[in-house]
Amino acid sequence: MNPVDYLRISIIDRCNFRCQYCMPEGTDLQYVLQQDWLTQAELLTLIREVFIPCGFTRFRLTGGEPLLRPDVVEIVEAIASLPDTRDLSMTTNAFLLADKAQDLKDAGLKRLNISLDSLDPETFDTIIGYQGRFTQDGIRKSRWPDVWAGIQAAATVGFNPLKLNVVIIPGINDHEVLDLAALTLDQEWHVRFIEFMPIGNGDLFGDRGWVDSETLRQQIRDRWGLTDGQVVGSGPADIFQIPGAKGTLGFISQMSECFCDRCNRMRLSADGWLRPCLLNESRQINLREGLRQGMPLWDLRSQVRQLLEEKPEINFKERDAGTTGRYSRTMSQIGG
Ligand code: SAM
Ligand code: SF4
Repeated sequence: MNPVDYLRISIIDRCNFRCQYCMPEGTDLQYVLQQDWLTQAELLTLIREVFIPCGFTRFRLTGGEPLLRPDVVEIVEAIASLPDTRDLSMTTNAFLLADKAQDLKDAGLKRLNISLDSLDPETFDTIIGYQGRFTQDGIRKSRWPDVWAGIQAAATVGFNPLKLNVVIIPGINDHEVLDLAALTLDQEWHVRFIEFMPIGNGDLFGDRGWVDSETLRQQIRDRWGLTDGQVVGSGPADIFQIPGAKGTLGFISQMSECFCDRCNRMRLSADGWLRPCLLNESRQINLREGLRQGMPLWDLRSQVRQLLEEKPEINFKERDAGTTGRYSRTMSQIGG
């Protein structure tokens, strides 16, 4: 079992996209009220006084869309300047990134993962649930160019490695597997295919199904060949490379393989719930409530340590439900 030292922090549960695989269609999501978000001060107290003493040293800011949080750059700066922070990264859809990439870099953000499910503006808009906007000349404006500009800005200011996350949905973007993989040929980018999970939009999952990593790898192998996979570090991705390519291909196969024994993370939601396992909704604690009720910090630390002790059992226990069941919270609410 890996040491659990990695915390994914959702700093906001709202999003400016409505990706088909992440959010249910036609339903109003119940957003956390702003007054219930962990404030910057509460978040910092929890990281410094609870998580770091419990062994967490690597942090990822996510959401929802983390760049929608008005104080995102200040949050990055504060976490980056803690002496025990070993790594600080962010997952974003990059729509607002072009203007913020330099500030985030200067504030101490080390790494960026960007979601990019299509290279075709129309398919992209379909996936993110955007109807398009028409200019006065009748030209349809997609959101894809802003996202691409965000990716370019991230590369220009020196975010390296730059990871691009892709979720393939049958019949929607499965014709782009090779185009997306080809991004690694000339650039030192890491394209990571994440298997579609039945979290967020169970109906879409039921209608479309999902593609397993080996099927994707076979397509890529048939076109270019593929080096043997290796597990790098303690993360969940299996890493491959097209021979001669500058970047790599990662496959996160949480549906077709069980990597619970490699799990090194917990998740903190925007309203302060700490979840030990993505696929387990039964065991979580509300740290925000504890803080606001004036619970001593040693008490919060011992609750987190208790959850850490229980984690190995929690991971495996709920695994089977995870591949077939439905979940009440979306990735955007949990902090994907
Ligand atoms: N808004 C940011 C973004 O899209 O990068 C960060 C939050 S998003 C919830 C984090 C990651 O979760 C994204 O890479 C997204 O592709 C992934 N995700 C969301 N729902 C998913 C699902 N049902 N199956 C697999 N991955 C999912
Ligand atoms: Fe928003 Fe990210 Fe979910 Fe897409 S995947 S709806 S960008 S939170």
